[in-house]
Amino acid sequence: MDSNKAEEVEFTGIAASPGIAHGPVSLLREKKISVPKYKVSSDRLESETERFESALLATRMQIQAIRDEVQASLGEDEARIFDAHLLVLEDQALIGETIREMESSVENVESCVWRVGNRYIEAFGQIDDEYLRERASDLRDVLRRLISNLTGQSLENADRLSDKHVVVAHDIAPSDSAMIDKNHLLGLATDAGGKTSHTVIVARSMNIPAVVGLGNVSEQIKPDDIVLVDGFEGRVVVNPSDATLYRYGKIKDEHASITKRLIALSQNVSQTKDGHPIQLMANIESEHEAKRAIDIGADGIGLFRTEYLFLNSKVLPTEDQQYEAYKNTVETMNGLPVVIRTFDLGGDKISNIPELGMIGESNPFLGYRAIRYCLDNAEFFTTQLRAILRASAHGDIRIMYPMISGAAELEQANEYLEIAKDQLRGEGIPFNENLSAGSMIEIPSAATACDTLVAGSSFFSIGSNDLIQYLIAVDRLNDRVAHLYEPTHPAVIRTLAQVVKAGREGDREVSICGEMAGDPVLVPMLIGLGIESLSIAPGLLPNVKFVVQSMTLKEAKDLAEMALSDSDSTTIYGNLLVFYEERMASLY
Ligand code: PEP
Ligand code: MG
Repeated sequence: MDSNKAEEVEFTGIAASPGIAHGPVSLLREKKISVPKYKVSSDRLESETERFESALLATRMQIQAIRDEVQASLGEDEARIFDAHLLVLEDQALIGETIREMESSVENVESCVWRVGNRYIEAFGQIDDEYLRERASDLRDVLRRLISNLTGQSLENADRLSDKHVVVAHDIAPSDSAMIDKNHLLGLATDAGGKTSHTVIVARSMNIPAVVGLGNVSEQIKPDDIVLVDGFEGRVVVNPSDATLYRYGKIKDEHASITKRLIALSQNVSQTKDGHPIQLMANIESEHEAKRAIDIGADGIGLFRTEYLFLNSKVLPTEDQQYEAYKNTVETMNGLPVVIRTFDLGGDKISNIPELGMIGESNPFLGYRAIRYCLDNAEFFTTQLRAILRASAHGDIRIMYPMISGAAELEQANEYLEIAKDQLRGEGIPFNENLSAGSMIEIPSAATACDTLVAGSSFFSIGSNDLIQYLIAVDRLNDRVAHLYEPTHPAVIRTLAQVVKAGREGDREVSICGEMAGDPVLVPMLIGLGIESLSIAPGLLPNVKFVVQSMTLKEAKDLAEMALSDSDSTTIYGNLLVFYEERMASLY
């Protein structure tokens, strides 16, 4: 063994995306910047002012260079964000006030500009105008850069990976994850987060191993550490020993050979041993994932999370851009259905586009999110509806509304859809007049009063990620309560059964598109409860299909009955696991 090797340390968290990754670490965090504060004699005030001027100039040159780079790689629209930063550096009020502050306090320039700048930030932050609030964050960015130039502290972050790395962070917001260069991303490990956080969902859809809820791993890791992420068991090993690497190498090989066999089997039709067809659809976040869904044998797209079209962008996609994305998707799917969910912004998916006016809320998951946001922003919503309708002329597109809480909201959403249809008719633009519009059932009120949604919905799709969070009152992102986030909680299982019953009575198909649907241990129970269509991350599809193919409907119904009559979620999960492991044993 190499005696120079750093000591191996293991962390346990929540297995969030399967797979094993191994490589150098890239720490993603906002660097703390310290602001020195000291008195200067009045005869040094002139040299302090000169330092200030050179720092303003250096900062200006750096921002201009970033602007040029962004313009070359992303275009003028994105580059324009930096114009606001450049303006801050020319702001005579800020510059003048900093100099006066130095004269009156006889303190160093860092301390004075920081104080003055923060007074502005605070004032902007309180103004009830989104544009001005945005200026506060511009000012904050510029101030940090100015301080770094005055003090020589580096602001470098690890968000641009030049080589393959495992990204370790305290937490990663969906917009941050969108900024990471996926070609160089081996795996993810975060202190915070739950299994159904949107960053994890994206990792899963890209087949990137991920472990979340690791406590304070980001504080314990050093930049030159080597990290192993075990997304099967929820472990992170820092500086793994040769023995650990050997053991994981074997696990990886074993999984690779099983995956190969599962992929081969996934080309067979999706039906139970006794011939009941089960529709297996794919969840996607971008048009580019549709091809993968086809390759893996999906029966269609059951959930297109459209908000990812612009979550990492600074500009809104136009109607034409959206139309192209939806049209390309449905054309790639070549006759198979594509369920397009309207924008589900808010919650943890906060867009930085100023026009959207999204601001932090104290309870974002209970706040201004998804359909609530869309119904309140008519033009934004209508633009998307028009784009979806136009794309429906090119294939089997269906529309789905997220976060419907009751019939009145659904009615309003459908009214907007009718308005968009009227507009297109008036303009002579073709669309599918019989386009189906369905509701996501992910709020307990919608589940309980599901029968009241039958009239306005052509189908129901259960969003179990949110349904569980709202039903058990457990934040899906919070690792401290992650143990309470139980898909086999009796309340969850009974609620699923209730939605299936309402769907049957109203003659509406009930499918499921939350992460539960991609957990092969839970799938037999879901099918036994009467759900015949599941939408899952493409990478999970082969395993789910294998489980479907290796059980009978009767076995599934027995498992559902067991789950409905037991009061203990751990026992229910345990029974389902025994069944699953028995089926999987035939693969080894
Ligand atoms: C869900 O809530 O289950 C769902 C599919 O939507 P999202 O995860 O995007 O909130
Ligand atoms: Mg949801």
